Amino acid sequence: MAGSKETIKEYGFKPNKALGQNFLVDADAIKAIVSAAAEPGLPVLEIGPGLGALTEPLTETGLRVTAVELDGALADYLKERLGDKAEVIHADFLKTDLMSVSEAFGGGFVCAGNLPYYITSPILLKLVTSPAPIKRMVMMMQSEAADRFFARPGDKNYGPLTVMSGYLFDISRLLTLSPSSYYPAPDVGSTVLVFDQKGLSLPKGFEKLLRASFAMRRKTLANNLLSLGLTRPEAEAALRESGLDPSVRAEALGADAFLRLSGILEGRL
Ligand code: SAM
Repeated sequence: MAGSKETIKEYGFKPNKALGQNFLVDADAIKAIVSAAAEPGLPVLEIGPGLGALTEPLTETGLRVTAVELDGALADYLKERLGDKAEVIHADFLKTDLMSVSEAFGGGFVCAGNLPYYITSPILLKLVTSPAPIKRMVMMMQSEAADRFFARPGDKNYGPLTVMSGYLFDISRLLTLSPSSYYPAPDVGSTVLVFDQKGLSLPKGFEKLLRASFAMRRKTLANNLLSLGLTRPEAEAALRESGLDPSVRAEALGADAFLRLSGILEGRL
């Protein structure tokens, strides 16, 4: 089976820890992920295909599949193995232009991946803030990283990614997996999340506002807003106009409050 220990041995691959190479060897999990990602008519962009544990069964659904892999040896192996069943691109996903991917696909697409743990947050930030028409995402990540998407205002792990992803997507847990589902086994458990697009887009300057608002967690929101070039009276007036107490902290606010604030500060973002 693709992604198995045998393939790794046969080809002499040495799983690269620095690239987050823990290959999925759990047949039930593979089936569940592929079935969640296979949406009739929507091509699939896979992040980090590795040895093709998900890629090959994805191609068997008959959908168009493009996979971006940073490790050149794995990309070459997959190109040879899959031939014209999938397009395998040897590149850094963080540098991949998602609008070009969408153009090549001719519109909306699904994104799937058993994510390399060391860059889970940058990958998800890139996906969530991209204007590309990503209809669904099926993403495997460390369970701790997955919990962030369900954080509530006031929780320690609540931040810009939580607010933006919750605004744009309906998010649900598909699976939780123990380390034994992988080879080599990682130290921690993983969770697969499904993100379904709600059909909204981020208001202009929303990400910038959130980044500034959460930049210094111990500071009040008014204080953090100064980094956007507002004077203190301007920041406090904007908060009052949004129906907020000027002494509030960003971590206490839900997406609605940030939406009102971004509307009021629109020209300044
Ligand atoms: N999808 C395979 C599976 O489920 O067995 C492999 C998953 S493994 C957790 C993560 C994969 O992402 C590895 O193949 C790794 O080489 C690749 N990777 C790491 N950094 C990457 C990057 N910046 N862009 C694209 N792929 C990357």
